[in-house]
Amino acid sequence: MARKFFVGGNWKCNGTTEEVKKIVTTLNEAEVPSEDVVEVVVSPPFVFLTLVKSLLRSDFHVAAQNCWVRKGGAFTGEISAEMLVNLGIPWVIIGHSERRALLNESNEFVGDKVAYAVSQGVKAIACIEKVTNWENVVLAYEPVWAIGTGKVATPAQAQEVHCELRKWLNDNVNSEVAASTRIIYGGSVNGANCNELAAQPDVDGFLVGGASLKVSDVPSFIVPL
Ligand code: PGA
Repeated sequence: MARKFFVGGNWKCNGTTEEVKKIVTTLNEAEVPSEDVVEVVVSPPFVFLTLVKSLLRSDFHVAAQNCWVRKGGAFTGEISAEMLVNLGIPWVIIGHSERRALLNESNEFVGDKVAYAVSQGVKAIACIEKVTNWENVVLAYEPVWAIGTGKVATPAQAQEVHCELRKWLNDNVNSEVAASTRIIYGGSVNGANCNELAAQPDVDGFLVGGASLKVSDVPSFIVPL
């Protein structure tokens, strides 16, 4: 089954209104293959979601960087999946290693968040163990040593792990899910290293941090080989 290439830009906790507008302008002007070939999703901090959504070209989509594990309520500082639906935000990143490390998010908590977000109609970019609704999930392999360090996995290293993950899906879920689920790589991806990684048969896209904020780098990693 053909898997559409997926590129996510994770802006993390960065940006001012002016900087965000500048990146969006660059994205809007970028010459990239049609959305039938590459799915492009950018993930600004919550406070910029609406702004980015209103300015971004219609073939690119927006993701939140997190959402609460269940229905909203007395959870100060949190954002619920229902709110994302209400704002028309189709994607959410869940279980990023920075949150796991800094906020002690456990596998179980992350799995519950993915399940809840997907149950509400928000698609998840996830590093997880527990998922039931696979068609709405993109799996991100993000070696912690490569995130924000400039040390990128070699194409062979990425391929080996992605292949293992696909095998795990095949053995533990089923062969259709294994064939159709997109497994993306994250960790120091940039315009210079993306093509070699994209050429690997089980690398179906990227989650890009630092380079997604560099106007000069933005278009290059969106275009796979
Ligand atoms: P990086 O971040 O590209 O800056 O290494 C990747 C990520 O955290 O998703």
